[in-house]
Amino acid sequence: MDSIDFVVIGSGPGGYQAAIRAAQRGASVTLIEEKHLGGVCLNKGCIPTKGMVTSVEVLRAVRQSEEHGIQSSGMVVSVASIVGRRNRVVAKIQQGLQYLLQKNKVNVIHGRGKLVGGKVVEVSGRQIQAKTIILATGSHPNSLPAAKPDGNFILNSDHSLDLNHLPGSMVILGGGYIGCEYASIFSQLGTKVTILELEERLLMNMDADLGRQLERSFKKQGIQILTGKKLEAASVEGGKVRITISGGEKLEAEKLLVSVGRSPNIDGLGLESEKIQVKGHLLVNEFMETTTPGIYALGDLVGKFPLAHVASAQARIAVGHVFGDKTPMDYRVVPSAVFTYPELASVGLSEEEAIKSHATTAAPPRDIKSVKFPFAALGKPVSQGETEGFVKLVGDAKSGELLGAHIAGLHAAELIGTFAVAMKAHMKISELAETIFTHPTYSEAIPETAEAWTGSAVHIPPR
Ligand SMILES: Cc1cc2nc3c(=O)[nH]c(=O)nc-3n(C[C@H](O)[C@H](O)[C@H](O)COP(=O)(O)OP(=O)(O)OC[C@H]3O[C@@H](n4cnc5c(N)ncnc54)[C@H](O)[C@@H]3O)c2cc1C
Repeated sequence: MDSIDFVVIGSGPGGYQAAIRAAQRGASVTLIEEKHLGGVCLNKGCIPTKGMVTSVEVLRAVRQSEEHGIQSSGMVVSVASIVGRRNRVVAKIQQGLQYLLQKNKVNVIHGRGKLVGGKVVEVSGRQIQAKTIILATGSHPNSLPAAKPDGNFILNSDHSLDLNHLPGSMVILGGGYIGCEYASIFSQLGTKVTILELEERLLMNMDADLGRQLERSFKKQGIQILTGKKLEAASVEGGKVRITISGGEKLEAEKLLVSVGRSPNIDGLGLESEKIQVKGHLLVNEFMETTTPGIYALGDLVGKFPLAHVASAQARIAVGHVFGDKTPMDYRVVPSAVFTYPELASVGLSEEEAIKSHATTAAPPRDIKSVKFPFAALGKPVSQGETEGFVKLVGDAKSGELLGAHIAGLHAAELIGTFAVAMKAHMKISELAETIFTHPTYSEAIPETAEAWTGSAVHIPPR
């Protein structure tokens, strides 16, 4: 039996980063992957979807070109070419990852890894013993008994990436970020999209103002939104999906995309052989160590914030802990983004969360305040014709502590990073107001919103 320092199972943004970080510290590392290097993020998630979002951005620019005096008649959209480009992007990043692993002397084994007890992992008939094991096997899309994906008419998020023609109509079940991103992509390409959501609004885990802004924008773009509605049944008849929703209402579409969350990949992983405890997701401490010392778990498998950059941060904490670092995982400042049109991004607490956790439980109760600043008040968004959206800050009215920031509009995902740095550095909102940003840019909304907080924003008229 081989004996090494680290075995990592799963090569997503959690697993491959753990493998490289351990190798950087001189450890012997084997990385086991049963499908494609890069995990869901590179192959079925972040990168391919954002590849499509980029193509749709180009389409939007072409559609708006006449306003800039540029004629673009005769435009043809080829979904097969969009998919082809997206696949080339994925392949290019995969090559880069392969090269990095090779240069860091990470031994990659293709196969399905399984714990068999005694810190031994079995893969393709081989057994490898490791001082440390890192589990990073990710997650898979949830299914619904009333609408079981068949990959043809009823799809999950993996299947929708395989479409190389444009459906005429699509019902998307689930108004979370994955459902909304697909709604945005397909609708802009020309599909008639309906979103069906059980909750009262889209994106229930983000600040309500972001969800409401997206609903308004989606409706303007022709996307039908049915909230507070449950899918009761779905069947395929005559080449169409026929859907019954609460109240007996019927819908019909060429495709039904089921986007109702994801579950951790734990089946067949041999967790019982190491007595690792699971409660829906794998239980870990603040250093990402499972209930079995020396075995760590991270990423979607532990389900805390199922995002690629969180998985990568957890990999840094886990590997650091093995080498004696005592820095725990800190979830206070976790930015997230939704790549719809308009783009949305958040960091910290939503206004609702801040009110719930600070105004009611803090002693003495904190007074929560929020302010908004519209992009329409700035030069660059106006010159670009992209004035939709706002920056919103949530903070402690007395101390001026920034508790959360929320952005709807172009470049939201890039802009949110500044607020993440400010929160990490415990900057006061007034300090953001005193920071100089370049003119003309979208980032000028950062000090302007902070000045709205202090009551001194120049580009908001006095009430
Ligand atoms: C459509 C979509 C869009 C997304 N967009 C974003 C985004 O824009 N930004 C963002 O931050 N996040 C996004 N995500 C979420 C992101 O992809 C995940 O949070 C991230 O991939 C989790 O990383 P991970 O390392 O935990 O595992 P994963 O990336 O899921 O990788 C796990 C890997 O483990 C392998 N594996 C599983 N079991 C075994 C086994 N027994 N043996 C060997 N290998 C195994 C799998 O094949 C897989 O390659 C998106 C997800 C989806 C589905």
